[in-house]
Amino acid sequence: MSAKNGERIPTKAYAAHSKEWKFKPFSFTRHALGQNDILIEILYAGICHSDLHSVSGDHHGTTYPIVPGHEIVGRVVAVGQKVSKFKIGDYAGVGCMVNSCGECDACKRSEEQFCERGKSIFTYNSVDYFHGNENTYGGYSNNIVVSENFGIKVAKDADISKIAPLLCAGITTYSPIKFSKVKKGDKVAVAGLGGLGHMALKYMIALGAEVTCFDIVPSKKKTVLKLGAKRFIDVNSDDFKKIKNEFDFIISTIPYEYDINAYHKMLKLNGEMAIVGLPVKANINGADMIWNFRKKIYSSLIGGIKETQEMLDYSIKNNIYPEVEIIPITRLDEAYQNVAKGRVEFRYVIDMSTLS
Ligand code: NDP
Ligand code: ZN
Repeated sequence: MSAKNGERIPTKAYAAHSKEWKFKPFSFTRHALGQNDILIEILYAGICHSDLHSVSGDHHGTTYPIVPGHEIVGRVVAVGQKVSKFKIGDYAGVGCMVNSCGECDACKRSEEQFCERGKSIFTYNSVDYFHGNENTYGGYSNNIVVSENFGIKVAKDADISKIAPLLCAGITTYSPIKFSKVKKGDKVAVAGLGGLGHMALKYMIALGAEVTCFDIVPSKKKTVLKLGAKRFIDVNSDDFKKIKNEFDFIISTIPYEYDINAYHKMLKLNGEMAIVGLPVKANINGADMIWNFRKKIYSSLIGGIKETQEMLDYSIKNNIYPEVEIIPITRLDEAYQNVAKGRVEFRYVIDMSTLS
């Protein structure tokens, strides 16, 4: 794989052509390597529940064909003339964004996900206004071209097959955990124990917090206790309804409709709840909130590039990796069904060498 001067780069991928979760091989070209760009040969890509939402068209509009994948890791195979952060042969990661305006206050303080001009360019299904408004295609593919500013450096000694999920599941949980200053001894909870949830569990255990896990799949109990959770509670049990005023912090990764008040009441006075799960709809009752006193609920979206680098370095240094199941790309359709039904513990990662 190489980048010839000024020429567009041929890419092989798997794409969905409608909201059905059915993928087939798809070829396209990526924009030519610019002076500040790197070309990455993709080695592994994670499957995030956001990919399922995107193919289904759950939130914003979806342009088909769609090539999802925003948990990407690979090897740098070409660098533009002005690139200084990477050299050929380095490992590099790409998360949910490939560019942003770069000029507003949010971008300048490296919170590019909150670009004040609304101009974050997402890794797939997004308009790349730096490159003729072409549609972006994600990581279920053999390569990606990205500005070096949006490439994340991956240490040589990293466990490379487990890195990809950190680029979304890792940063999306790490960022609010840091924002809420979770610390040793805090009583905390994770709602929804999937790709994101189990990373939240790992980070908060590493910080010395006491973690309760909530999920609808009781069979996850054994694994989360093994990972260090203090207790597991089935959200359909009576125990769930009894909990009140208990937690300093809750992170919800639930991807389907649920009752936010049920968790709000579990917070201690002044406790904080971060919502990162993206259900099409979630219910909240203002009066019930008030009668459960002063507690904070906020939303959080991935994390900026600087914080993503910090998260990755911290995770590698402290040996905090996701639990992954590596699959060939030919199993994509089946993998989507399994993610939707909670049949994966905890993240599928596609081995991109299986893309022929
Ligand atoms: P997963 O499917 O891997 O995990 C979700 C987990 O929540 C599953 O274990 C699921 O069980 C469980 N669950 C479903 N319904 C409930 C419920 N009512 N109560 C408790 N647990 C429940 O998804 P991901 O971790 O990949 O993503 C989670 C959500 O976060 C998605 O909506 C995704 O789009 C969003 N997201 C948001 C980001 C952000 O920046 N804010 C970034 C990345 C993702 P089961 O599988 O059995 O349904
Ligand atoms: Zn994601």
